[in-house]
Amino acid sequence: MDIAAFVIALAALVVAVATAYMARNNRKHLERYIQRTSPLERKVGKLVSEREGSRVSDGAEVSEAAEDSERIVALILNPVKEGAKKVEQLLRTKAAKHGYDDVLVLETTEDDPGKQMALDALADHAEIVFAAGGDGTVRMVAEELAGTGVPMGVVPLGTGNLLARNLDFNVDDVLGHTEKLFTGWHRKVDTMMLTIKMADGSEQTRRSLVIAGVGADAMMIRDTKDELKAIAGWLAYGEAGLKQLVGKRQRVRIGVDGQPAQVRKIRSVMFANVGQLQAGVHFVPDAIIDDGLLDVVVLSPSGGLGWLSVARQTVTGRSRSNEAIEFLQGKRVKFSVLDGGDIACQLDGDVIGDITEITAQVDPGSLLVVVPH
Ligand SMILES: [Mg+2]
Repeated sequence: MDIAAFVIALAALVVAVATAYMARNNRKHLERYIQRTSPLERKVGKLVSEREGSRVSDGAEVSEAAEDSERIVALILNPVKEGAKKVEQLLRTKAAKHGYDDVLVLETTEDDPGKQMALDALADHAEIVFAAGGDGTVRMVAEELAGTGVPMGVVPLGTGNLLARNLDFNVDDVLGHTEKLFTGWHRKVDTMMLTIKMADGSEQTRRSLVIAGVGADAMMIRDTKDELKAIAGWLAYGEAGLKQLVGKRQRVRIGVDGQPAQVRKIRSVMFANVGQLQAGVHFVPDAIIDDGLLDVVVLSPSGGLGWLSVARQTVTGRSRSNEAIEFLQGKRVKFSVLDGGDIACQLDGDVIGDITEITAQVDPGSLLVVVPH
């Protein structure tokens, strides 16, 4: 391979890795607060209109009998995403056609990108909870739905849409895809449970559906200027990515499934539930969404040649380990930063801050997703 091909391969890596994690909401555009209708208000309003004479005062408890008689689906929607209104209209039409009484529409906000909305949808016994937005919205909703047996309908409105892509959903025809979810079947997929120790000593338990990462990938997302991103879109990640290619590597310890932990000098470590990035790049070729295993990619290139090696691996879609890139697989992975350091962390494209330890564990078949049919 000549030098020109190498350069192209390196550029492909930067674009591929960076764009993979950019499905988070564009917070700049989330500033306007969207008033959402509470599920109880909606339900009460509907009951009043449907049952003449049965007055339900504001804030009154909805009776169990009334609860049981209604069949609803919920739509948790990021309202700033392009196509959000069309999705809502389509869901209302199709839900009625398929015998549902109502669509509970819950819009996400900057302060709450999906958690309370998912809890509301569960409390209202929605039969399907549609998550319409980017990977960030989908992750927040899945965090609450996992383990409940309530299926999630993924409506990809983001730019990354990595979960949808890895499930072979048609992200280019969102409305066509969404319509087919009403007659779809339910598929069990794995999620990753992450117990994370933050740099300030606090602990969090989170879920990831796609890829969680520490180091260069998280820093790329964190350092990308919002203004630049608004103008240049995903190309902006390339600029931030280039800054992360050089500099000092961090010493970390990684242990898989109780085997003796290994010490590595890394630039990035990624915990993958799926392996396909945008543009059909198979970054983690062995990652399968329902095999009960999580995949780990350790990036530790020391310099330009190392990055070229990583780039070549990415472009060719091979999972052969070498000194710059290493692939591991297991059910439970313990990761910690050595030398008293900390490292930036992202979950499915959302940067959560600096961390010192992660224990990642696969939760097999914990999430039901609707597959269009
Ligand atoms: Mg797997």
